[in-house]
Amino acid sequence: MAFHGTSRQSVCGNLFPGADLGHKYFCVNSSTGTTSAGLGATPSSSGPAAPAGTPRHPAALGGGTGGGAAVPQPHSNTASEVPSPAEMEPDRPIGYGAFGVVWSVTDPRDGRRVALKKMPNVFQNLVSCKRVFRELRMLCFFKHDNVLSALDILQPPQIDCFEEIYVITELMQSDLHKVIVSPQPLTTDHVKVFLYQILRGLKYLHSAGILHRDIKPGNLLVNSNCLLKICDFGLARVEEPDPSRHMTQEVVTQYYRAPEVLMGSRHYSAAIDVWSVGCIFAELLGRRILFQAQTPIQQLDLITDLLGTPPLSAMASACEGARAHILRGPQKPPSLSVLYMLSDGATHEAVHLLCRMLVFDPAKRISGSDALSHPYLDEGRLRYHTCMCQCCYSVPSGRVYTRDFEPSAERPFSHSYEQSLLSVWQGKELIHRFITEHQQGKRVPLCINPQSAAFKTFIRSTAWHSSKVSRKEER
Ligand SMILES: [Zn+2]
Repeated sequence: MAFHGTSRQSVCGNLFPGADLGHKYFCVNSSTGTTSAGLGATPSSSGPAAPAGTPRHPAALGGGTGGGAAVPQPHSNTASEVPSPAEMEPDRPIGYGAFGVVWSVTDPRDGRRVALKKMPNVFQNLVSCKRVFRELRMLCFFKHDNVLSALDILQPPQIDCFEEIYVITELMQSDLHKVIVSPQPLTTDHVKVFLYQILRGLKYLHSAGILHRDIKPGNLLVNSNCLLKICDFGLARVEEPDPSRHMTQEVVTQYYRAPEVLMGSRHYSAAIDVWSVGCIFAELLGRRILFQAQTPIQQLDLITDLLGTPPLSAMASACEGARAHILRGPQKPPSLSVLYMLSDGATHEAVHLLCRMLVFDPAKRISGSDALSHPYLDEGRLRYHTCMCQCCYSVPSGRVYTRDFEPSAERPFSHSYEQSLLSVWQGKELIHRFITEHQQGKRVPLCINPQSAAFKTFIRSTAWHSSKVSRKEER
């Protein structure tokens, strides 16, 4: 596009509200304000006033360079001590989600480190426009400690120049994938508190009528104090109650894909997310991917190796070819006892819960909400609400617990606006208005400083990723 450069010129002059902050841009507010207890430390040592863990050099936190393990970051800046620009950590990329690049940046308003995500290719076509608007609205809708939400949205330029959207979220230090492949010890206590938080967040999402559809370790962000948040809603959508309505098959990274999706089912439910959590539970215990196949058919074969050949009733929604593939093969007996060999943590209780999640028939699979009632999660719940949550608090005489340990959403997420979204230009107007209204009466708005060196690097890394995304969307 010929005037792409022109439009960028007119993007706000200074990202920072104050002239003396001129060269740093993005904003942030780490609302979690957590202190580090060190992921490797035993959870029993972590608490509201847990000692800070050993901070490593922040440069090690590089998602783009395969940075590896959880890297605690020093949170030395408090809101009252706004550092001078020279003291601020440099902005840098920390990861590449399904759609968009994420950077770790400093909020010039309070000096806190936050994550800045650019949502690219918003107005390329109506499909991308709807997808980004849905993700943006979800990020602003979420109010749950185990689900990543938007802290702020950067001020958009005039609508004629409006091409990109930048969202600010809490900055988390690592994700479960990096933790699992790292040499850090993962105790049973870790597994329990992680699984508890995944299911707690999932119950909230499902109660809002949202299917995540891409639950995998890399989309489960964690802090060094073991706080966990589900992220990346680029593939999330509202649950479809009408079974005659077809849903896309392009969901979920293959290793975590539920059998009904692998078998070409045209309609699926929140149970696909529970399957993914089951796979992650096993991966936390064994520290290796449970079903790691090269192709979807091999993926299905690995699943039936473990669960045995499913009965016909469990394949009711499968496509003909997939059902024929299963029936053509040998009749396999279940071999669930191998789950006990995942690790010492694979106790009877653990395997019992795991087997309730890894059920072939989605109608018989346990729900996220019911899984939370399993006794395996009692210790994780206690640990979470004793020293990690925001919903309970301590008084001199002890801990005051919340009445609802696993809250549902206050209301379902509404996507009725999508029906009236008929053109890209209309979408642009709607999104522009949504962001402007979202900012009303909030903090000093932030915008991008397009002259800064960091911004130029940011744009380059995004452009590289965008081309991949457009190809994906064409399919
Ligand atoms: Zn609590």
